Amino acid sequence: MYDYLIVGAGVFGSTFARLATEAGKRCLVIDKRPHVAGNCYTENQHGINVHVFGPHIFHCNDDGIWNFVNRFAKFNNFKNSPIAFHKDKAYSLPFSMYTFNQMWGVLTPEEAQAKIESQRLKLDREPANLEEQALTLVGSDIYETLIRDYTRKQWQKDPKELPASIIKRLPVRLTWDNNYFNDKYQGIPIGGYTALFENMLEGIDVELGVDYLADRDAWNAKAKKVVFTGKIDEFYGFQFGELEYRALRFESEVMNKVNHQGNAVINYTEGNVPWTRIIEHKHFEGGNNEPVTIVTKEIPDTWSREKTPYYPVGNKENTDMFRKYEALAETENNVIFGGRLAEYKYYDMHQVIGSAFAKFRRVE
Ligand code: UDP
Repeated sequence: MYDYLIVGAGVFGSTFARLATEAGKRCLVIDKRPHVAGNCYTENQHGINVHVFGPHIFHCNDDGIWNFVNRFAKFNNFKNSPIAFHKDKAYSLPFSMYTFNQMWGVLTPEEAQAKIESQRLKLDREPANLEEQALTLVGSDIYETLIRDYTRKQWQKDPKELPASIIKRLPVRLTWDNNYFNDKYQGIPIGGYTALFENMLEGIDVELGVDYLADRDAWNAKAKKVVFTGKIDEFYGFQFGELEYRALRFESEVMNKVNHQGNAVINYTEGNVPWTRIIEHKHFEGGNNEPVTIVTKEIPDTWSREKTPYYPVGNKENTDMFRKYEALAETENNVIFGGRLAEYKYYDMHQVIGSAFAKFRRVE
């Protein structure tokens, strides 16, 4: 008999399993996929750690979370500075003096500020959606060139139908600083994410390639409590309807050259280019001079329940539906729900770890 059956070997499940094990509990971690690490999974191909389910850059401000992940991997000093291509121009992200200079030729913060001010949307209330939020923050030129069509393509929704919170993820700075994240700590685990998860799960029972929902009673009988990190709507048999997630398709190519695009991430912000970004994986690890590189196009895909879920779509309809599932979840005495899918939140990795810390403290 285990203390915890943990469904999902991704960030939430693996963190919870580690904490519980160190508190003297017996854990069994299961996953329907043939590997650990969830969507953080990396695979070594041609000496390059490929981010199989999209680019993952670890960043956080919290000493406790940073110390925790550093127990399982050493991190490199990767700094995320994506580039956005639009027509035949390149813009620096996030929105900084570099971007304003490329957009308008301005050279000082005052000039940039004046330019933004002259085209900014001025509201006497909080922005109600992504479009209003973006227009309020950076004005129409940047919205139309770098945000509107990219967002529509990525979410397959009009930016007016999306929550303002999504765009608040992007910093806007009047400084020459193109570090995407404001956080104190940032990096990629040396040797890949998969090894980090394997180390986190060291000494813990793990079964891969097994489906909890297909045989729920048998699995439940193995433990006193269940930690569920899958889709909450599926856990409850979709009884209030299907929550929407964003799906993706990846097209990867091995190229016999040292360097293809000169950066880990290049966004394609035009509506008529099918992919949202191209990843060149070796640059996450500082690049190397080997004449081989792997690039991946990330292409939005229409959602249906059998596809891999990547992002919750936090618009009103979905949020209202999620609240109903959450209310059911709160009545459970022996099930803990956590992570991007079970909490239906657009979490970054460090926020999932923070949630696992908090939920573990609550039960132990
Ligand atoms: N975004 C944009 N243009 C860009 C990059 C981002 O409009 O070139 C917007 C878009 O709405 C996106 C959001 O900012 O959904 C958050 O982007 P982020 O890069 O943080 O997304 P993630 O890396 O989590 O997919």
